[in-house]
Amino acid sequence: MVKRKRVAVIGAGLGGLSAAIRLAVNGFDVDLYEQGDKAGGKANQISLNGFRFDTGPSLLTMPFVIKELFEYSGERIEDYLELIPLRNLCKYFYPDKTIINAYADVGKFAEEISTKTIDAAQSVKQYLKYAEKIYELTAELFLFSDFSDRQNFYKPEALKTLFQINKIDPFRTMHQANKSFFKDPKTIQLFDRYATYNGSNPYKAPATLNIIQHVEYNLGGFILKQGVYSLVEALYNLAKKKGVKFFFNSKVTQILQDNFSVKGLLVNRNGIHEKKEYDVVIANADVNYTYKNLLNNSDTKSAKRYSKLEPSSSAMVFYWGVKGRNENLDVHNILFSKDYKKEFIDLFEKQVCPEDPTVYIYISSKFNISDAPEDHENWYVMINAPYIQNQNWNEELQKSRNNIIKKINEILGIDVETKIIFEKVLTPEMIEQSTSSFRGSLYGISSNGKSAAFVRQKIKSKEYNGLYFCGGSAHPGGGIPLVILSGKLAAEAVMKS
Ligand SMILES: Cc1cc2nc3c(=O)[nH]c(=O)nc-3n(C[C@H](O)[C@H](O)[C@H](O)COP(=O)(O)OP(=O)(O)OC[C@H]3O[C@@H](n4cnc5c(N)ncnc54)[C@H](O)[C@@H]3O)c2cc1C
Repeated sequence: MVKRKRVAVIGAGLGGLSAAIRLAVNGFDVDLYEQGDKAGGKANQISLNGFRFDTGPSLLTMPFVIKELFEYSGERIEDYLELIPLRNLCKYFYPDKTIINAYADVGKFAEEISTKTIDAAQSVKQYLKYAEKIYELTAELFLFSDFSDRQNFYKPEALKTLFQINKIDPFRTMHQANKSFFKDPKTIQLFDRYATYNGSNPYKAPATLNIIQHVEYNLGGFILKQGVYSLVEALYNLAKKKGVKFFFNSKVTQILQDNFSVKGLLVNRNGIHEKKEYDVVIANADVNYTYKNLLNNSDTKSAKRYSKLEPSSSAMVFYWGVKGRNENLDVHNILFSKDYKKEFIDLFEKQVCPEDPTVYIYISSKFNISDAPEDHENWYVMINAPYIQNQNWNEELQKSRNNIIKKINEILGIDVETKIIFEKVLTPEMIEQSTSSFRGSLYGISSNGKSAAFVRQKIKSKEYNGLYFCGGSAHPGGGIPLVILSGKLAAEAVMKS
């Protein structure tokens, strides 16, 4: 009789949950170890003093990826989650007081651009067609397939992509491409912003990343009625129902291996060190961290190569309980900086928090009133921050707080400092400490070069038999839908082997 493989997953991030569910559905015995006391990783929540905040991701795209996971498990997503399509994807505020609503209805959005900028509605429509073409040519190969499996490069879809390489626009930067479609700096800034969706710099990242605009405008942006954390709770409940065994407060301290074959784990459970035997280990923990801290081997080719790649940016987030309601704000709001290029020089070259940051404000109490007490709002206020590189984070935090308050005052005319009755913060150091994310990066490596998609850690380890990776630092990259896909690819690779 064939012995059933014993599988361990390290980390209850969304990628780890996704992999664990699929394997459990297929009859594998899956143990999931999480160093924290609950599931979610970067996707977490704070509930205090009558306020509830999602702490990490706030916008959901490609919900069909989640729906597919429920269907695969023989369940209905509707029984777990309430998804609501956004009518206004984001409200953009510019320093000169122009406001642009990014309506989900493409026709209405194109009209809005033509009214508020010098660009034509037709240019927006053409641009979104161009972004759609990139998706059509790349999604199957770059998002839905496992790069460690060379067979995927010989599929007809891959050849189709190769023969139309110019259409996926890899040789220009996002900014160059956006400038070729639009004349107004406001429109260009709006579309350049999408580079930050995977922690990159629009002046360096390849224009292929304009695929993101297709995902958001043509496929839609969504909110979860009970907050993003309800997705974590739903996947956690689904995993338990399918038989995944969870071990919280259980830090994996080593992946045991013999002659490059995985043998098990060393786990520190509430101070008790245990040795556990496994045939397969899926690391949902950060790739760099896994090589350095769990395999204690920075000498393999992959470990060396990976440690040299530039991380994606991090974030500084303020969770503010705010007195009063602000009708001028929507669920997702952006207050743009004056000089976008300088902002990315600050982030990636000077490696400091931007002096004039673009400020993102997400208010979930706009659609779920129970997220804040009556006549209050829960403001999640985020700026892009550099990855960790010897900065003084106390100084960066104070400086950024002042800059944000100043900006909100200037653009919105709100003296927010006098209205804050609750405050918590998240810094890059805290992100690294709570999730083991290398240098506090949000999305693994940055895409500030043409080769990011190819050099990102593959699902199946080349060096260690029985070791697989999933999550934001592995293929196909960070963000909710991609890490869920990553978990899917890891589970499929395990089943295939
Ligand atoms: C502030 C912020 C804003 C974001 N905004 C968005 C957004 O709007 N939309 C979007 O799609 N994405 C967004 N993201 C990115 C998104 O949250 C991540 O890409 C995704 O949640 C990462 O999932 P993951 O599977 O990589 O696991 P992670 O969330 O990185 O979790 C890994 C887990 O592994 C555990 N772990 C690590 N080491 C060990 C160990 N040794 N032993 C046991 N457990 C271990 C950690 O504790 C953690 O729980 C944002 C992230 C942040 C932080």
